[in-house]
Amino acid sequence: MNIDIMSAQRPLIIAIDGHSSCGKSTFARAIARRLGYVYVDTGAMYRAVTLLGLRSGALGADRWDRELLIQMLEQIELEFRLDASTGENLLWMNGACVEKEIRSLEVSGWVSEVSAVPEVRHHMVRLQQWMGRQGGLVMDGRDIGTTVFPAADIKIFMTASVGVRARRRLLELQQKGVPATLDEVRANIEKRDQIDQGRKESPLRRADDAVLLDNSHMTPQQQMVWFVQLMGQKGFPVPGE
Ligand code: C5P
Repeated sequence: MNIDIMSAQRPLIIAIDGHSSCGKSTFARAIARRLGYVYVDTGAMYRAVTLLGLRSGALGADRWDRELLIQMLEQIELEFRLDASTGENLLWMNGACVEKEIRSLEVSGWVSEVSAVPEVRHHMVRLQQWMGRQGGLVMDGRDIGTTVFPAADIKIFMTASVGVRARRRLLELQQKGVPATLDEVRANIEKRDQIDQGRKESPLRRADDAVLLDNSHMTPQQQMVWFVQLMGQKGFPVPGE
């Protein structure tokens, strides 16, 4: 019966922004699954541009070819495809799945500098707005509630302590078989936060109407209870599990 209520409702746009590695994508994915919405991981899109930059030689040790990076944007085709066996939306770039490659520490080391380039941002924001044109999606990133969808129905700003975030990220990388140490991961998180918050073009900041969620001491289940309550307060019903 709840499902009937949901389908009668206009498909919403749910924007989730926040600091690096605080569990935005896990939370966003769980919300999308619960609502039957599409999940869009915009960080993956910036990571894919970075991967192509590294592959094409625009980026590398002692190399930062901004012009080549910008030219490359015309050649990049990005698409999220559903993996039927896991139910996950995976990022494909120019015809190949790049989910594993975009999570490497090399890509993480470059991605915030790449995503501070205004031309890169404009290109990605246009694509993201196109992906969300019909609503019915949960999108996570750094500028979703401020720039991509400033009129989103629900805006959440997530954070957690740096120590908690570094430990969670390390675990995630280990599970994916990506080698890393806690110090490396923590340094990378701090560097990305600093660049994301300090850049000129759509810096990471909490939108005035975003609700704050500090999940340092919350389990995924507690975060879902929090979300269902928030939706209730806003007058949006959520189907039962
Ligand atoms: O979400 P994730 O940590 O994978 O994002 C990787 C990087 O992409 C971030 O550190 C940030 O620099 C950039 N990003 C961004 N805007 C977004 C999403 C990600 O600048 N909407």
